Amino acid sequence: MKQNIIYLSVICIALSMILICVPVMAEGEGGGDGSGMGGGGNTDIASVSSGLLSLQYILGGLVALAGLILLKTTKINWNIRILLMCAVFILFGVLVVMHQPSPLRTVVDPVTALIIGSTITIKKITALIFIGSLSVIGAKLFCGWVCPFGALQEIINRIPAPTGKKIKLPFNISNSIRISIFSISLIMVLATGSDLYTYHNILNPFELFDWHFELVLSVLVGTILIASLFVYRPFCYLVCPVGLLSWLLEHISIFRVRIIQDLCNNCNKCIRVAPCPSVKAIVNGDTLQPDCFACGVCIDACPTDALKFGIRKPRYKQNKSDK
Ligand code: SF4
Ligand code: SF4
Repeated sequence: MKQNIIYLSVICIALSMILICVPVMAEGEGGGDGSGMGGGGNTDIASVSSGLLSLQYILGGLVALAGLILLKTTKINWNIRILLMCAVFILFGVLVVMHQPSPLRTVVDPVTALIIGSTITIKKITALIFIGSLSVIGAKLFCGWVCPFGALQEIINRIPAPTGKKIKLPFNISNSIRISIFSISLIMVLATGSDLYTYHNILNPFELFDWHFELVLSVLVGTILIASLFVYRPFCYLVCPVGLLSWLLEHISIFRVRIIQDLCNNCNKCIRVAPCPSVKAIVNGDTLQPDCFACGVCIDACPTDALKFGIRKPRYKQNKSDK
């Protein structure tokens, strides 16, 4: 109980700090990134709040809520999931009117602004708060349920691989690559004022949704999409800074996949059917857990209902470990 109070207090303080501090960094004008996203020209919390009440965020929040309800009530399966991923891709990727600022820039720009002392737009601040809040409420509720590029990779991953076998990347390697890319980007900001993600938009596939098909980017996106046939969400695990941020936030997410050890019969069915490297770490109770994109496949597969998208460890598991 005491632990939960500390845990929730840390979350509340972190969220309050984001809400109070981040708008201070925002520039006085709405600024444009071509997204058409809401957000006004003021630097106060009211303009962030009004941005969050725009159609894109309301719909994004509703989709995430639907995902949370499906996961909580264990009403999710691969068919429902892929149908919803198609809807997310069309809604937030194809329909220009629903575009949010690029999630990638939403994370990279504030870091860049902190390093070189520049300002960022209210739109990106609003998007950052949206992504951060969803990720704290439920593990990867943004990445797993709202991001159109994540949805596209997941849809492709459902196509049977020509080799008949999917690959699960070792997390320590994929995460090291992701952290290295982010670190190199920060060094580039210090050295040149431009980061790796904006440098000719080499690593920003979200440009795709604005119909910016530059050669290098097109080759990169094509490679990622082909790789998605074999590997679950390769861009998320290997490159995306939003993936990195939301992975960190997963550690304080209120809802996430949890195992009830007393119900687990060690059949490993969840590990066999899951597309990710995460469920094995969850079942084994590993300290370092790879990103879980809240797809619900492991929850649906478990024959004994030992996996839940829950709020905390069931009490009887805690009692067992207390013995
Ligand atoms: S990690 Fe994946 S799902 Fe999340 S923002 Fe990046 S591309 Fe989208
Ligand atoms: S652990 Fe893997 S299979 Fe289970 S919900 Fe998370 S991403 Fe999906």
